[in-house]
Amino acid sequence: MAYNSISEIIEICKEDGISFYEAVMRDTCKDTGHSEEENMTRMSEMWRVMCEASVGYDADLKSRSGLVGGSGRQMEAYMKSGGSYCGEFILTVMAEALKMGESNACMKRIVAAPTAGSCGVMPSVYIAVKKNHGFSDEAIVKSMFVAAGVGQVIAARAFIAGATGGCQAEIGTAAAMTAAGLVALKDGTPEQIANAVAMTLKGMLGLVCDPVAGLVEVPCVKRNVTGAANAVVCAEMALAGIDSAIPVDQVIDAMREVGDNMPSIYKETACGGCANTPRGLEVARMLEKS
Ligand code: SF4
Repeated sequence: MAYNSISEIIEICKEDGISFYEAVMRDTCKDTGHSEEENMTRMSEMWRVMCEASVGYDADLKSRSGLVGGSGRQMEAYMKSGGSYCGEFILTVMAEALKMGESNACMKRIVAAPTAGSCGVMPSVYIAVKKNHGFSDEAIVKSMFVAAGVGQVIAARAFIAGATGGCQAEIGTAAAMTAAGLVALKDGTPEQIANAVAMTLKGMLGLVCDPVAGLVEVPCVKRNVTGAANAVVCAEMALAGIDSAIPVDQVIDAMREVGDNMPSIYKETACGGCANTPRGLEVARMLEKS
């Protein structure tokens, strides 16, 4: 993608009187050599696989470490009990994020968005949006291009992998992309999209990548839930007209700075954070012996 900043996209939107989606789609068509219709078909396929992964969730599966599996079903049962603080929308987001993260940990088919470790953030929110707010598949797929455009700028300016920038780069980017998509779905302005991205990333700045035993299971699966919730609340703040005090591109640059200065023990090496707790080390030893 030609865009190296969100402000550049906003500028194009203003100059040409087009939406964020149109700016990203125009560039995608140039980049891929495909028509808008062809690109929509390819993205629709991703959305279809996301939905399929949710339907194909198997709560009886356990991950390699045995620590992951069944939480999506527990969350759905809790949702049905009716005693929660949250409403149905957020509860659905939580259940779907768990299901997707667990499916990844159990080697089932998922869509990396942008990575496999963060695969639960975007589909959980979109599935909940479809179930609870009735948006069409077409509207969802269009907003996925907005999310993808944001993800590409973050990848170009900073990073999207835990190994290079910590979990802020992975779950943080997935959450920022999702927040952007949510604002676009509600016809938010390009500036509101930018504010949602900035606020989401700021909320996840500094998050380390510390997978227990080097497996994308703990704390990864549940981080998909908190990342998704972060995306929703930041999209809501942006739609309410609340601005980010720090402009979005500066926040992305800050994420890069934090990631560059993050010690390697927090970059997917399984040497720090949760991986380095007594329980985390015990699990790693147990897996080594098995
Ligand atoms: S902790 Fe690391 S491996 Fe797990 S989701 Fe975050 S970035 Fe990915």
